[in-house]
Amino acid sequence: NQQIHLVSRPSGEALASNFKLIVSETPALQDGQVLVRHHFLSLDPYMRGRMNDAKSYTAPQALNEVMGGGTVGEVVESRNPKFAVGDKVVGMGGWQQYSVVDANQLGALRKVDTTLIPLSAYLGAVGMPGVTAWYGLVKIIEPKAGETMVVSAATGAVGSAFAALSKARGCRTVGIAGGPEKCRYAVDELGFDVCIDYKLHHDAASLSKALKDACPDGVDGYFENVGGMVLDAVLLCMNAFGRIAVCGMIAGYDGAPLPLSHPALILTNRLKVQGFIVSEHMEVWPEALKELGTLVATGKLKPRESIAQGLEAAPEAFLGLLKGKNFGKQLVKLA
Ligand code: NDP
Repeated sequence: NQQIHLVSRPSGEALASNFKLIVSETPALQDGQVLVRHHFLSLDPYMRGRMNDAKSYTAPQALNEVMGGGTVGEVVESRNPKFAVGDKVVGMGGWQQYSVVDANQLGALRKVDTTLIPLSAYLGAVGMPGVTAWYGLVKIIEPKAGETMVVSAATGAVGSAFAALSKARGCRTVGIAGGPEKCRYAVDELGFDVCIDYKLHHDAASLSKALKDACPDGVDGYFENVGGMVLDAVLLCMNAFGRIAVCGMIAGYDGAPLPLSHPALILTNRLKVQGFIVSEHMEVWPEALKELGTLVATGKLKPRESIAQGLEAAPEAFLGLLKGKNFGKQLVKLA
């Protein structure tokens, strides 16, 4: 069983040398356990936070242990009556080819139906990133038909789900993404009304001008994934009583400071600004997954994937994700 361990913590930018490929034996199964062969590993921005030894909403990743992470795969051996060989499952198997799972533990392993939804989608649009978009939009922004919604990192796993959910609620939906290819894709394939390339702008004033053109009625809801200049620019366009769901600040994950230039706009525009962590809202997952599953099964949400081949490719793919090299949900294909 190949595994990737975290062997050192980054100071500043994360490096490939923080990770190490290890080969280990798979232990024999105990009663209640199943052996899962992973087909895909999910790479997610939150993993960067776990590489630090700092207090955060998730515990730090332990050194010299398998990196944690979401996985989808198939049961290849079972000593649990609820799981049969061949079942397709979602779990937190980590950066390795196989995992032994105590399947009686609540939430450890979930069977999924791949008739209409591809297995990999359960790590993206019909999984944690999709529910993240759903929670921020439905529970924090609370959109009304006809309002204008904006999302940054628009073509990513979260951003693409946000677009489908926002359009389904009758909102003008504007994306912000890096580069012409991503912006074209956002409009042609993801259903955005407009997508703005932030890389064409060197300051918030210039970006906010482009945003004002794209949002003639102002911005009512903003789903924040990035921070820094992008947040500054959107703040300049928010309508009175606008709502901002603070989901991520990826521009600062490697330690770069993210100053806010116009915080007084929160006051003068009476904005609601709320952060959230999707794993703290398990009560909404069934409802959110139902809507997201339907959107994918009916072709209304066609999320794109960036697939790295083989476990050894995981560290570089992960570092690329933190620099916007991914185009859509970043996965690693293991089997
Ligand atoms: P994505 O698939 O969107 O990939 C990350 C994207 O972020 C990149 O493709 C890139 O897009 C953009 N990006 C990377 N670096 C920078 C930078 N320095 N400045 C600006 N943009 C950058 O990832 P996810 O959809 O998985 O996650 C999106 C956000 O949601 C992240 O901030 C993540 O931490 C957050 N999140 C929060 C959760 C919660 O519970 N609060 C749960 C899940 C995710 P581009 O090329 O367009 O710039």
